Amino acid sequence: MNFHSNVQEAPYIGPQYQKKLNKLGIKTIGDLLFHLPSRYEDFSKISFIRDLKLNEVCCIKGRIIKIENIYTRKKRFSLTEAVVSDQTGTIALLWYNQSYLKTIIKEGEYFCFAGRFILTDRGSYLVNPAYEKIRGMEIKSFDKKLMHTGRIVPIYPETRGISSRWLRFVIKIILERLERIDDPIPQEVLKKYKLLSLEKSLWEVHFPLSFGNQKKAKERFSFQELFLLGLFVLSQRIKRIRAKSYPLEIKLKTIQGLIKSLPFKLTNAQKKSLWQILKDMEKPRPMFRLLQGDVGSGKTIVGAIASLNVVKSGGQVAFMAPTEILAKQHFETVHNFLKNSDLDIGLITSKNDKFFSKKLKNQVVEISKRKIVEKTKDGKIDILIGTHSLIQEKVKFKNLLLIVVDEQHRFGVEQRASLYKRNRADKNPLPHFLSMTATPIPRTLALTVYGDLDISILDEMPKGQRMVNTIVVSANKRNDAYEIVRDEIKKGRQAFIICPRIEKKEDDFGQEVNDFKAVKEEHLKLSKKIFKEFNIGMLHGKMGSKEKERTMKDFGQKKIDILVSTSVVEVGIDMPNATVMLVEGAERFGLAQLHQFRGRIGRAGDESYFLLLPQTRSKSAYRRLTAIAKTNDGLKLAEEDLKIRGPGDFVGKRQWGIPNLLMSSLLDIALIEKTREAAKEILEKGYNLTNYPLLKKELARFKEIAHLE
Ligand code: ADP
Ligand code: MG
Repeated sequence: MNFHSNVQEAPYIGPQYQKKLNKLGIKTIGDLLFHLPSRYEDFSKISFIRDLKLNEVCCIKGRIIKIENIYTRKKRFSLTEAVVSDQTGTIALLWYNQSYLKTIIKEGEYFCFAGRFILTDRGSYLVNPAYEKIRGMEIKSFDKKLMHTGRIVPIYPETRGISSRWLRFVIKIILERLERIDDPIPQEVLKKYKLLSLEKSLWEVHFPLSFGNQKKAKERFSFQELFLLGLFVLSQRIKRIRAKSYPLEIKLKTIQGLIKSLPFKLTNAQKKSLWQILKDMEKPRPMFRLLQGDVGSGKTIVGAIASLNVVKSGGQVAFMAPTEILAKQHFETVHNFLKNSDLDIGLITSKNDKFFSKKLKNQVVEISKRKIVEKTKDGKIDILIGTHSLIQEKVKFKNLLLIVVDEQHRFGVEQRASLYKRNRADKNPLPHFLSMTATPIPRTLALTVYGDLDISILDEMPKGQRMVNTIVVSANKRNDAYEIVRDEIKKGRQAFIICPRIEKKEDDFGQEVNDFKAVKEEHLKLSKKIFKEFNIGMLHGKMGSKEKERTMKDFGQKKIDILVSTSVVEVGIDMPNATVMLVEGAERFGLAQLHQFRGRIGRAGDESYFLLLPQTRSKSAYRRLTAIAKTNDGLKLAEEDLKIRGPGDFVGKRQWGIPNLLMSSLLDIALIEKTREAAKEILEKGYNLTNYPLLKKELARFKEIAHLE
């Protein structure tokens, strides 16, 4: 039996338990040992019965004087009562509905008991205590034989059919019987960073001799996971640097010509980022860069110019957007920017069957999807803009040299890999990759999960700081908020009203649940009652794409004054005339997400209003929302989000199955820096980890559980 053996090879684990463990994702002995306690009970002090105090958690040892089951008049309800004594006194024990205990705990035998000593309506008892048989009264705290009492006792995450008691029992046997526990972390790393060995850590995390030791064990496990993540990310980076791509000359003349033709001057941040991108693509290895910039910082034009450079070198570009609306908008924008550049630009989305290709100096042609696919395959479309359909449909490129992905956190690692395979000749080198996002990446994540990317930042707003007033509206001021909306519309402006849901939820009896506001109901209420005089439109994910498109078009042409919508307007949508946004159930959204919403208004530089209406009266929700009113710094809000909500929002979107422990250590910048350094040191000794076979194996396992590849 070793770490990699099937759990069934462990003593006491038959097919039944194996099944249950498999359900928890536990397949090997190693998996089981890494099923860590979620908390501990401190039963380490064995007291004399005489010294017990009411309401305290305590542990005693003694001889069973009496045990009996008592059947009450209530059906299916039984009591088991016992009396125990030590040299200082006697005490009564009471269990509810565990009459089987009478066959386990027998008169005259010695036991340890641990639990809370309380006053019930039958008198004072140690209630539902944990029990453990002992040989006699000699036993002391932390005796090797004790698992459930007389020590710091591990409590495992609750699951049906697998009790903490059972887990303690099998884990202890396994730890005792494993001959050798080899440590995947190299000796030199253990030493340098003063880490406990794997064997010691496993003992201390399951059966700690002190909370200090337990903490050190936990630290070692956190270190291990971050270290593995560091190894993965850094070796990805090395791999990429060694991979081949297409070195693309910088077509300076063409680019300058284009920049001159723009109706605005690029900001310095845009110029700098563009230069970094062009320089990256000049190298014979694939670019892998993230362009991060707050909403409105002008990422699209940077992506468009990079695309132009690629096309002028004879390559094709895939330009991906997270939603249909956005794909459409990008199509218009990119076409507009590049209209004098003689390019063919295509649009492909999943639901439509008609697509446009803009060709030669501003001509719009409507052609079938089949045609688009065909043209792309023949290399006749230079830039293909689309949604997920870019990967889902049978799209193949003749010579795909650049992939641009807008709001990449909506795309997973696997999808990226799938895009890589779009070239017709599969053995082609990798295309360059540019990902654009408005979500700032907290430093802890930039060093870990995003550590394989290079990052360019647009930290300058082209139109200067926008003047958005952020107001948290209390429940009794709802009408004032509506008045602000009304005033803005009367000035010729437009408004968004955001709701967390599409429709109201119903409970099992068909009754509406008093829950977060829904687009459909609000749309009805606002158009029938509150804003009768205005045109009100609605937008949500369940609408057909034609309908959505029409709605956006109407809003763009000011045929709609107020757009009631779900969070679909979160990313990218550019409606410069909108100056007010009212968010219902605002506490439902993350801070970074709200910041994205805020980026949707006042885009023409007018003073505007971002109104947050919490649904609940919770103080913490209110406090969280005022944080967003106080700052316009997206990074600060993202870091705040990370602290409040954990890395799920950031990491989940990359579709990684990050283990729980790692999730929490992703907040620990000091540990992150340490593990990154350790990973670097090891990789410097050979990036194939040939000298560290155990570590190599562990890294492979880690990649698999975290679906890193
Ligand atoms: P985001 O970074 O949010 O994707 P966009 O690329 O949509 O921003 O740009 C927002 C708006 O700003 C667009 O209308 C775009 O044409 C405009 N824009 C981009 N760069 C500049 C600039 N340097 N000066 C003025 N306006 C710009
Ligand atoms: Mg954008």
